[in-house]
Amino acid sequence: MDLGKGLRQALAKLSGRYVDETAVTELVKDLQRVLIANDVNVRFVLEWTKKIKERTLSEKPIPGVGLREHVVKVVYEELEKFMGQAHEPSLAKQRILLLGLFGVGKSTSAGKIARYYSSKGLKVILVGADVHRPAARAQLQQLADQAHVAFFTLETNDAVAIATAARKLSDQYDVVILDSAGRSAFDEELARELKDVASVFEPDSSFLVVSADAGQVAGKQAKQFHDAVGLTGVLITKMDGSGKGGGALSSVVESGSRICFLGSGEKLQDLRAFDPHAFAASLLGFPDLKELLETAKRVSEEENLEKAWNDGKLDYATFLSQLKAFKKMGPLKSVMQMMGAHDLPDDVMNQSEKKLKAFESAVLSMTLAERNNPALMKESSRQARVAKGAGMKESDVRELVQQFEKTQKMLKDVKKNKGLLNKLSQQFGGKLGG
Ligand code: GDP
Repeated sequence: MDLGKGLRQALAKLSGRYVDETAVTELVKDLQRVLIANDVNVRFVLEWTKKIKERTLSEKPIPGVGLREHVVKVVYEELEKFMGQAHEPSLAKQRILLLGLFGVGKSTSAGKIARYYSSKGLKVILVGADVHRPAARAQLQQLADQAHVAFFTLETNDAVAIATAARKLSDQYDVVILDSAGRSAFDEELARELKDVASVFEPDSSFLVVSADAGQVAGKQAKQFHDAVGLTGVLITKMDGSGKGGGALSSVVESGSRICFLGSGEKLQDLRAFDPHAFAASLLGFPDLKELLETAKRVSEEENLEKAWNDGKLDYATFLSQLKAFKKMGPLKSVMQMMGAHDLPDDVMNQSEKKLKAFESAVLSMTLAERNNPALMKESSRQARVAKGAGMKESDVRELVQQFEKTQKMLKDVKKNKGLLNKLSQQFGGKLGG
C-alpha cells in the first residue's frame, strides 16, 4: 500500500470517534504499521510516533477545531518538520550534473528537468555523458526532442572529454544538464569518473537520482554519492508506484541530504520541486488542512499579540508575528489612524512583504537570548553577526533594530492610553486585553 493511502486510512478511523488515549494509541500503532510496511527505519518510526502521541495528548486543541483535526495537525506538523526545507529551483544560468545508478530513472529525470526549465523560458541543453550504457545517449536525445530542448554529445567513451565540451555550452545556453554515467552499483571507479567529470564540468548543482523502490537503500546511496562527489540534493523517482516511498524519503533525509525533486510518473511533466508543506498535505489528503493550519496560525498570532499587549513588552519573536498579523488585517497605518493614533512612524507602518521577509531572516539569525532580550541587539558586533547569518547588509539590521525600538515605544504609549487600548480591543473582537 502506498504511504499516503495508509496514513489516510489510519487517520480516517478517528472520524466520529471521541479522541482519547485509547484512540491515539491505536492511531499510533496504525501509523507504525504503515510506515514500517513502507520500509521506513524502525527506530525512526518509534521515535516519530512517540512524539506524535505525546504532543497529541499534551497539547490543547486549537479553539474551534475538532479533536480529529487536532491530531491531523500534529501528524502534519511532525511530517513537515522532519522533511526539511522546500526546494526552490534557481532560475539563474546554471550547470546541473545528474548522478545515479542504472534503472533509477536518471535519463527520464534529465528530460523532466529540461522540460521544467524550458517551460520557464530558459534555453536548455541536455548533454549525454552516460558512456557505459549502450543506448543511453540515443534515449537522452529522444527525451530532448520530447522536451523541445537541444542535445549534445561526442562520439567517444571519454566522459571527461564530453564534460569539458559541455562546460563551454554555458556560453550559449542558460541551463546545461549533464547526464553522467550510471552503474549497477556504486564503486570506486564510478566515484573517480564522477569526480573527474565534476572537476571539468564545474556544476552549480549536483543531483542524485534515486528510485523510491530502493526504500531505505536510497539513504545509503545518497550518503555514498555525497561523500564521493558532494550533492546539492536528491531527486526521488517513482513516487507514484512504489510501496517504499516513505522509506526512500525518510532515509534520504536521515542521511543528511536534501530532497529537491520528486518524480511521480513516466511523463516529462511528472516532476515537482520538493515542498514538504504540499507533500505532507497530499499524503494526509485532509481536505480542510489549509484552512485548519490557517486557523491555527491566526490563533497563535493573536495569542502572541495579546501577550505583547498585555505585558506592554515586546521581544523580537513577538515583533515578527505581530507585524505579520497586522499585515493580514490590512494596512497597519490605516487601522491605527482609525483608532486615533496619528503619530506613528511611517517606516514601521509601511512594511513591505520584502522587508518582512528580511526581518524574518534577521530574527531567525538571532540567538534565543537575543530574541528574548532585545537590548542585546544594540551591540554592533551582534548586528554584524546577524547580518552575515541572514545575508543582509549591516545597515539593514541596524534599521530593523531601530524600527523595533520605535515599535516598542509605541506599544508603551498605547499601553498608557487606556481609551485607545479599549478601542483597539473592540476592533480586534476583544482579543487584545487591557
Ligand atoms: P536510467 O537507467 O536511470 O536512465 O532510467 P530511465 O530514465 O531509463 O528509466 C527507467 C524506467 O523507469 C523507464 O521505464 C521510465 O519510464 C521509468 N520511470 C522513470 N521515472 C519514473 C517515475 O517517476 N515514475 C514511474 N512510474 N516510472 C518512471
